[in-house]
Amino acid sequence: MTVDFFASPNSIAVIEKLEENGHEAVFVGGAVRDFLLGKQATDFDIATSATPEQVKDIFKQTVDIGIEHGTVLVLMGKEPFEVTTYRTENVDDEKSLREDLLRRDFTINALALTKDETIIDLFNGQADLENKIIRAVESPEERFLEDPLRMIRAVRFASVLDFAIEEKTFETIRVEKARLESVSIERIKVEFDKLFTSGNPVKGLQLIVKSGVGEVLPLFPRLLSGIDRMMPFHTSKEGWAAFMMTGKFTVSELVAAYKLSNDEKQFLSKVQKAYEKRDLHSFQKDELYCFDVDVLYCVEKVYCSLHGKIIDVSRENFIKQKALLPIQSKKDLVVNGKDLIQWAGGKGGRWVGEWIERIEYAVLHGHLENHLDTIKEWFINDFDSER
Ligand code: ATP
Ligand code: MG
Repeated sequence: MTVDFFASPNSIAVIEKLEENGHEAVFVGGAVRDFLLGKQATDFDIATSATPEQVKDIFKQTVDIGIEHGTVLVLMGKEPFEVTTYRTENVDDEKSLREDLLRRDFTINALALTKDETIIDLFNGQADLENKIIRAVESPEERFLEDPLRMIRAVRFASVLDFAIEEKTFETIRVEKARLESVSIERIKVEFDKLFTSGNPVKGLQLIVKSGVGEVLPLFPRLLSGIDRMMPFHTSKEGWAAFMMTGKFTVSELVAAYKLSNDEKQFLSKVQKAYEKRDLHSFQKDELYCFDVDVLYCVEKVYCSLHGKIIDVSRENFIKQKALLPIQSKKDLVVNGKDLIQWAGGKGGRWVGEWIERIEYAVLHGHLENHLDTIKEWFINDFDSER
């Protein structure tokens, strides 16, 4: 893969423009790692010797997104790029690429790439990439002290890339894990989201336990048994649902502990309801009707994992089963409340909703056809006999 292929023309234009103005500029971070792994990167971060003010002067369209970290978002041909001034310990220091790379977390993330495809590898990141190793840049103690979140990032990258954590780096995580207590839960959650959607979440979760990191994370100690049986997740939401069911946590407990979003909370609530049903019997019409495919599939997967069963239902299978139901929702009924009121020749009230539900149930279970005349006859008959 060449740089032209890997990086968009717009990103190269950003680098060229910085260079034309007398500054250094290179690709850094995850994109360089992914380039060397032959993977398509999604975001191209650029590091430069130019100050944020200089960056803002050079480019027409910029957004301040993290000026305190020296980051300016540059829009080039509508594509956004994070352009960060070389990070240094001390503002008086001469800004250099070396210092920038030294302040990154792992050797594989501390590589830089020029637009002419020269790799700048000051910490043997390429060798670690080849040997599939996550190793802190220079001193793990110093790196983890600067930002304890990196301990979880180590586990996350090990899980996403299927790499091993280098011994000294891992040992330092074991020793320094308590420092994670000072890290905001929002940042930790982002790493879990990525861990959950990796190809091998079990590996990541096992490393969290093995390193002792689980002991300092909310709700984690109760999760221990059951981890080994988890299957890969399609979405991070599924991961959180599995976390909840494995640990037998309540929705509100987990939502509060990891500050999950409203959308995640809603998904977890549905999962919990569906799981209670699944505990009683395998999914039947009522559940297929009531819950989305995502919920059904997630619950089935986790239920099977936790009960040592092999899952024999695919996502597509649930889609098909749902499609075979006589109706997909109330909206598919050919009658509505107004019809019932008219037929009954009286006033509306709570009875309307109740009768709609009875019709819904009868249609769903094939006791009643979803035809206007059929339903009308059935309704008039039953309604009169109950009066
Ligand atoms: P992903 O594919 O998950 O986005 P990534 O390597 O791009 O992986 P990001 O979290 O987006 O990960 O970070 C981009 C780069 O910024 C990293 O490769 C690393 O060089 C640096 N970085 C990010 N967070 C940290 C941190 N907490 N400590 C040190 N360096 C960091
Ligand atoms: Mg990234």
